[in-house]
Amino acid sequence: MDPPLESLIERLPPGTVSTHPGEVAMHARDRWALAMLRDARGERVPPPAAVVFAGSTEHVSTTVSWARETGTAVVPRGAGSGITGGAEAIRRAVVIDLSRMDRILAVDDVSQTVAVQAAVKGASLQATLATKGLSIGYDPDASDLSTVGGWIASRSAGSASAAFGTIDQALIGLTAVLGDGDVLRLGPLPAGGPGPDLRRLFVGSEGTLGIITEAVLAVSRVPRQYLWDSLKPNSFESGAALIREVLQRGFRPLVLRLLDAEEAAFQFRDLGHRGAALLVGFDGDAPAAAAQWFHLRELGKEFGARSIGPELAKHWWDHRQEASGWHEGVMGPARTLGAGVIVDVLDTACLWRRLPHLYEDVRGALLDHAETVRCRLSSPYPTGAALHFTFVVRAADDHEAERVYETAWKEAAAAILAAGGTVAYDLGVGLLKVPFAAEELGPAGSAALQRIKAALDPEGILNQGKLVPPPQN
Ligand SMILES: Cc1cc2nc3c(=O)[nH]c(=O)nc-3n(C[C@H](O)[C@H](O)[C@H](O)COP(=O)(O)OP(=O)(O)OC[C@H]3O[C@@H](n4cnc5c(N)ncnc54)[C@H](O)[C@@H]3O)c2cc1C
Repeated sequence: MDPPLESLIERLPPGTVSTHPGEVAMHARDRWALAMLRDARGERVPPPAAVVFAGSTEHVSTTVSWARETGTAVVPRGAGSGITGGAEAIRRAVVIDLSRMDRILAVDDVSQTVAVQAAVKGASLQATLATKGLSIGYDPDASDLSTVGGWIASRSAGSASAAFGTIDQALIGLTAVLGDGDVLRLGPLPAGGPGPDLRRLFVGSEGTLGIITEAVLAVSRVPRQYLWDSLKPNSFESGAALIREVLQRGFRPLVLRLLDAEEAAFQFRDLGHRGAALLVGFDGDAPAAAAQWFHLRELGKEFGARSIGPELAKHWWDHRQEASGWHEGVMGPARTLGAGVIVDVLDTACLWRRLPHLYEDVRGALLDHAETVRCRLSSPYPTGAALHFTFVVRAADDHEAERVYETAWKEAAAAILAAGGTVAYDLGVGLLKVPFAAEELGPAGSAALQRIKAALDPEGILNQGKLVPPPQN
């Protein structure tokens, strides 16, 4: 049965609800490779019944209250740049598109914080912050085509995650509409607050627990100069060992990014680089930055990694936002690598002790099915690191490619879990990884998440089928 949209339309300002066929079609999917592939061959994801272009927290609350009363499923959407199907619509659902909520509310240069509406995109946020000498510290990837709400809901990471981790570390205040329409306002606080930190509940929640409408983020100063270096390790494994040593000794570079030989060959295809590469960047203004930069070079020698100068690192930094254009080229209508080709990115993380095992086993599992597999380590921590594998499946036709892709994911996820890794670091679970996430969480973990969801979204209307495995009856 179609939702009774008339009663929603009359509660919201004119022009807020759209049922225009072109508009609803554009809100059917995100950038999940499988949905893009099906789209390209004309098997479109069924569009939602309507799109609500919410302009305020009140509009979101009104829509969610209506959805609860009428039993209508709701899918929150930032910019739709997710690659796991998290913003994929459901037939007869209403998509809440937050793109009109794109105002920067306040920049506090004393506290170094910024308050924003949820759909501010990275490019405009960075531009405004830059006028005050500030920046979003962790430098989110694909930031020009994604929103703050999406970053929080998917726990995004970025180019400077070596220093700043994920959005989790930046989030200090949050406003969210819960599944019953109630508005929850938390912080901003640098730390603390009564009881468990409820803000953290929304990091990685993928629209299943509430709809984020505003956030306050901690920001950092823009470096006036960067100190770059590129090192050539003997192997990915020895480069990873060097990164571990660097972080455990207390060095604090902004950027520590290790590319395996295949990733480096792809990134630096015009520069003729061969072998793995470790890119290092320090904030030149940070205390002892020059000394750390120098010592890191010296330490590199102990691990068989020699400096090859700053060029590769600078080249990567200048081109770091271009991956999304390449992805769109391959998976979008242009199909630049031809039909029967799927490109995807797998994100995982584990402790250092297990990392060589994780790298080898996941790479091996993907190579059994993919034409190319490349890997980067760009979010290192003192205790472990995240790995991102980009893989390209090529088959005789799209149907075969889909089958191979699904097998590749299943076997790679099994390898991740066997190696003690996670199936979701910063790209979300979406639709793609629900069974793998359930396996990782185990029955008690899945049941705990389901109970939290039931408490915050009693009718189960928020982003059904994503992230949280359905309860077992
Ligand atoms: C080529 C490419 C490369 C990428 N590389 C990276 C990367 O390296 N690191 C990284 O972190 N990400 C990466 N991404 C993924 C993507 O950009 C991030 O997941 C981003 O955070 C999604 O933001 P969005 O606004 O587009 O969210 P959407 O895609 O619209 O939504 C993502 C999820 O969050 C939910 N959601 C969105 N907004 C809200 C809200 N306000 N309240 C509640 N739930 C909400 C949605 O329902 C969905 O489940 C990449 C994407 C592409 C296409």
